[in-house]
Amino acid sequence: MRKKTDLESIFHKYNLTDFKRIDAKDIVIAQWVRFKCMFGCDSYGQKASCPPNTPPINECREFFSEYEYGVVYHFEKYIENPESRSEWTNEMNKKLLLCEQEIFLSGYQKAFLLFLDECCLCRKCTGSRILCMHKKLSRPGADALGVDVYSTVRKLGYPIEVLKDYNQTMNRYSFLLIE
Ligand code: SF4
Repeated sequence: MRKKTDLESIFHKYNLTDFKRIDAKDIVIAQWVRFKCMFGCDSYGQKASCPPNTPPINECREFFSEYEYGVVYHFEKYIENPESRSEWTNEMNKKLLLCEQEIFLSGYQKAFLLFLDECCLCRKCTGSRILCMHKKLSRPGADALGVDVYSTVRKLGYPIEVLKDYNQTMNRYSFLLIE
């Protein structure tokens, strides 16, 4: 395995400075997360990188079990205008994609990014994996793969709470799976 410092220098190049390593086995996958997608989220069936366009939870578990470790990126952000949320998300996800690409090209063939929120690379999502406009770039969010982000990042000592309104600062998380 490569030295940890190799990766860290790439993260810093993309100004990704707040991150922690996590053993892949410590990433919590839970069926309740999928139920929250199915019952309570407007994106269910509307987004090409969200359920039901992502695999069932047992396959998600299998996917994570094939990795040795991951990196959790933390983003603390206050956005005054809720309408600009997807703009900021897009900007961060594009930066994360460039970083993932560089890590992949440096020899980490299994590098796989989980967006910090649902994919919003297009103004209007096609809602279909087959018809996705940017198949090479779109990635699922961690919750779309059944990750209990709350339990997982708390293991690392990162903050996360259910937010009650848009006046609160967000703590958002993206994951990079590596081996
Ligand atoms: S790239 Fe576009 S079509 Fe594909 S999942 Fe993202 S928003 Fe949807």
